[in-house]
Amino acid sequence: MLQPDLIIEGGTLLTMVEGEKPLQHATLLIQQGKIADILICGEERPFFKGAQVLDARDTIIMPGLVNAHGHTAMTLFRGLADDLPLKQWLFEKIFPAEAKHLNEETVYWGALLGCVEMIASGTTTLSDGYFFQDATARAVQKAGLRALIAQGVIDFPAPGVPDPSQNLVVGKAFIERWEDISELIRPGLFCHSLTTCSDRTLQEAMKISQRFSLPLQIHLSETEEEVEEVIHRTGKRPVLHLDHLGLLNESLIGVHAVHLEDEEIDLLARNKVRIVHCPESNMKLASGMARVTEMVKKDIVLGLGTDGCASNNNLDLFKEMDTAAKLGKVRTLDPVNMGAVTVLKMATVWGAEVLGLEKEIGTIEVGKKADIITIDLGKPHLVPLYNPVSTIVYSASGADVKDVVVNGRVLMKDRTFTALNAEEVMAKVREISERIRS
Ligand SMILES: [Zn+2]
Repeated sequence: MLQPDLIIEGGTLLTMVEGEKPLQHATLLIQQGKIADILICGEERPFFKGAQVLDARDTIIMPGLVNAHGHTAMTLFRGLADDLPLKQWLFEKIFPAEAKHLNEETVYWGALLGCVEMIASGTTTLSDGYFFQDATARAVQKAGLRALIAQGVIDFPAPGVPDPSQNLVVGKAFIERWEDISELIRPGLFCHSLTTCSDRTLQEAMKISQRFSLPLQIHLSETEEEVEEVIHRTGKRPVLHLDHLGLLNESLIGVHAVHLEDEEIDLLARNKVRIVHCPESNMKLASGMARVTEMVKKDIVLGLGTDGCASNNNLDLFKEMDTAAKLGKVRTLDPVNMGAVTVLKMATVWGAEVLGLEKEIGTIEVGKKADIITIDLGKPHLVPLYNPVSTIVYSASGADVKDVVVNGRVLMKDRTFTALNAEEVMAKVREISERIRS
């Protein structure tokens, strides 16, 4: 029987279902975490006793955004080291700061701050790769977000994994601890890169991921230097080397994929490897411009990610969408490329597919999980409304998000957090930052 516990009432609905136009005066009925019914054009609805109602008049109702790649707890290092070459940034600033300051406590509060920031800017699902991932998983669970949380794997002593020979043992144990704890959290593995993980480590990580039917994430061809290093070691470009190792398949999520030749794009497409585009991080570290239009043309499933906060320096996917569209146009000197619809798909329905969650989230359809946001249109920069997709990609920012719902639970109502004490989280991270600064 239809007995909704949450009603989102009266907005312009963007379902992100292929071919569907925006629907006016739409109302969503949500029951036990799922979308139970969609009423359109101001259809009369019966009174439902006990249901919470979100007033969505003068808003756009749309699927929550999917941040397909990040290192959530790196909020701790936001603004610590900027405007440096990647190697210097990584080896002289970030790795030493991580070695000295990461532990269960700092990762928990850093990740929680990232969750607060993502809720405040309309992200409902995130993909994370880092260390001390029990702490990240606890933070995400506390925040109420949906996530793929992957234990970092690197063949060097790492935070929480001082003996690299144990990296996969630690990763597998993390998966076993979290695989059945919550329907919102999926654990996994994240291999840092082809230059920091051996061939054997990569192959073993893939075996473990496939045994648990989980995706395996890896930073792929992020910089020219990295590509050169792989060629020097193996005689092959990175994607060709992964093919040689038998690692190109649907379970692999390649992040960045900035420096690809045609043959590599073909191989990724043929083997259904998923890719995550992180334009702001690539711009800030001057890594280059990914060939996204070419990948879309080959039907590669592409998601959008902010990457970690130390190379962005925010987790606002609205800004990332705007940047992705404009960077794609300027790279090809063609304003038709990377249109708003393509970019919004990357941040919703395609992002869900990258993470293997397309049956559950990414669009607003009856039977799918209720991961939904509303955008407040009562702002000068959002008036008038001719095309909701253009407004979202080119005019809106995360601060325009009004309500956030994950799995049918309201996490932010009218910009007030309902599940978290944001003041407490910010105070804790400020306190930790004093230790990092000294
Ligand atoms: Zn990254």
